[in-house]
Amino acid sequence: MLENLTDRMSKALRNLRGIGKLTEENMAEALKEVRTALLSADVHFKVARQFVEDVKAAAMGQEVLASVTPGQQIVKIINDELVKLLGEGAGQLLDKKPLRIMLVGLHGSGKTTTSAKLAKRLAKEGYRPALVGCDIYRPAAIDQLETLCRQENFRCYTDRNSKDVPKIGRAGMEWAKEQDANLIIFDTAGRLQIDHDLIEEVKKLRDKIVPDEVLLVADAALGQEAVNVAQHFNDAVHLTGIVLTKLDGDARGGAALSMKTITGVPIKFMGTGEKMDDFEIFHADRMAQRILG
Ligand code: GDP
Repeated sequence: MLENLTDRMSKALRNLRGIGKLTEENMAEALKEVRTALLSADVHFKVARQFVEDVKAAAMGQEVLASVTPGQQIVKIINDELVKLLGEGAGQLLDKKPLRIMLVGLHGSGKTTTSAKLAKRLAKEGYRPALVGCDIYRPAAIDQLETLCRQENFRCYTDRNSKDVPKIGRAGMEWAKEQDANLIIFDTAGRLQIDHDLIEEVKKLRDKIVPDEVLLVADAALGQEAVNVAQHFNDAVHLTGIVLTKLDGDARGGAALSMKTITGVPIKFMGTGEKMDDFEIFHADRMAQRILG
């Protein structure tokens, strides 16, 4: 996947051979190419600009290695920076029992599916999971959670008679403790876009259940909106990580770089399909290649 970019850059930097060092001037054209690649992968324009500035600073003054073309060298620097940035903290969750995880995100991002996928993964590591359904606005969401829990044999707490989400969360937590669960995953409601009521509700729920991990579940195809979504949720509930879903789709995934840069929180896992096992530790190297196109 890197070949396209490499080819384009090699062309742009052909006249660099033998110059010795990479400088602002002789990198300018290549960095423009990088910015274009990032923008076409739907990285937010401000994030793309900042990233290119960082790459420029890292590359400045480096000797051009004899064994590679300047274009190849710059692509490698860019790729390494991306892998480093995206890979920090991948797959890491707080190592404690009981562990309380709250999932937040927009409607349709994959929260309910991810609740069960995460429970399944952690059950294999010795946790006894219980899931708590706090998405009370969509009866289908409660049904979906119950179905997944039945299918996977997980304990599940739902309450169709209450509209008090923080209270449901608290009751679910107490119930899970009685069930001897040592992993409690809270599935929350989403909206099609960020709205004040949604944010207020997740804040109240968070205060009530005091989760160890707050994970933003985000569709890899979120595009330019990713910055806004990640920023709002992070400001409201202090995210501890991101789960990027639907990476089996054809989105270039620039949202990953945007969200990581804006929030500073790690992308921990990724969803790669609708099935329960389509869930992996986030692979920064694959993502970097995907973003660079
Ligand atoms: P929620 O509204 O955030 O709870 O989202 P759901 O968990 O209901 O997921 C919405 C849709 O996305 C469902 O049809 C899921 O099967 C699907 N989905 C979730 N994660 C993935 C994924 O990683 N890949 C694909 N292809 N579909 C997914």
